[in-house]
Amino acid sequence: MTPPISPPRALPSLLGLKPEEVAELMSSLGEPAFRAKQIIEWTYAKRAPTIEAMSSLSKPLRQSLTERYVTRCMTIAKVTGSEDTTRKFLLKLNDGRYVETVLIPANPALYGGDSDRRTLCVSSQVGCAYDCKFCASGLAGFTRNLTAAEIVEQIVQVEAYAGERVDNLVFMGMGEPLANYSNLTKAIEILNAEWGIGIGARHMTVSTSGLAPQIRKLADFPMQIRLAISLHGASDEVRSRIMPVNQKHNLAELFDALQYWRSKRKQHITLEYILIKDVNDMIAQAHLLAKRARSIHAKVNLIPYNTVDGLAWERPSEAQQDAFHAVLTAAGVTATLRREKGHDIAAACGQLRLKQETAEGIIESPIPEKRITIGAGAAA
Ligand code: SAH
Repeated sequence: MTPPISPPRALPSLLGLKPEEVAELMSSLGEPAFRAKQIIEWTYAKRAPTIEAMSSLSKPLRQSLTERYVTRCMTIAKVTGSEDTTRKFLLKLNDGRYVETVLIPANPALYGGDSDRRTLCVSSQVGCAYDCKFCASGLAGFTRNLTAAEIVEQIVQVEAYAGERVDNLVFMGMGEPLANYSNLTKAIEILNAEWGIGIGARHMTVSTSGLAPQIRKLADFPMQIRLAISLHGASDEVRSRIMPVNQKHNLAELFDALQYWRSKRKQHITLEYILIKDVNDMIAQAHLLAKRARSIHAKVNLIPYNTVDGLAWERPSEAQQDAFHAVLTAAGVTATLRREKGHDIAAACGQLRLKQETAEGIIESPIPEKRITIGAGAAA
């Protein structure tokens, strides 16, 4: 037998395919069209863990699928947290990278809002390029976009592990979802579809640091998904200091895009505002925030900053948090302030930072590139 000349490449996953793509694949393999429907059912409704398990397909078809596709492209490397608070899943991708996803249990009393639902905070990229100064996720820089399959599989993995369905998704994990637009929207279609995972569009929230052009594009995307903006500053001066993205798309441009979004949707936009001591917690910012929120009829979610190892930012005193909150309510803005440390969705997700324990200690993402030399090691 001739030794392989290159190491095996990772195969794409069935979990990223739409019915029309499977139909095309069947026709290219000379298979009858009804096979596509069967494969979609095995993949999504029945969550077949392997292609071998797709027992209604012929053996030769299973064989040729196995040569081209996988059913899973990640494994659960570690789970931390508890069933009644939040559980954080460290997922190992098939190129050795890691992402995290956070399961937040239904608990209306504690979380309010949409939280009679089990929420999953999903990652969209490995690392993040946007460099928000207070955020743990971008500390190690950007590695790569997740594929649509890798986004969808986060839900599949967590549901299998937890033995329960997730019924609310927030794209508030690691990464900037709108910087991975085509994979994100493909994943959303699969997650929403009846033939797919079946989560209602109104129970999916895309959170962005404020990529105005992509917000407009998403406004034209024909699904009633929700939008959250990581605002964190109500003047360009304050916002640009902590979120470099504001130098590219300033508040005027961002709010123009939000007006456009509003012209297309009924649901309120949520403005996320982390309160950071002496950085953005000034009462003058609260007044500006109230004005901006009113201009687009947005809800405001105030989140006392969760400290991050290695970053000097602090949360304001409770008195300062209350005073800031009071300005918003007095101005007629619907604003929530929740103090439970680490329990708020954005706070829990905002702390995603990859730490991979090894025998040598802690390696922080990005995991050093391991290049496999073609021919040499692999063929031996
Ligand atoms: N890039 C997208 C998706 C990430 S969402 C976005 O910016 O919206 C993660 C949320 O957690 C964001 O609102 C982020 O600003 C917030 N966050 C980041 N670090 C945090 C921290 N230390 N404490 C509380 N929230 C934080």
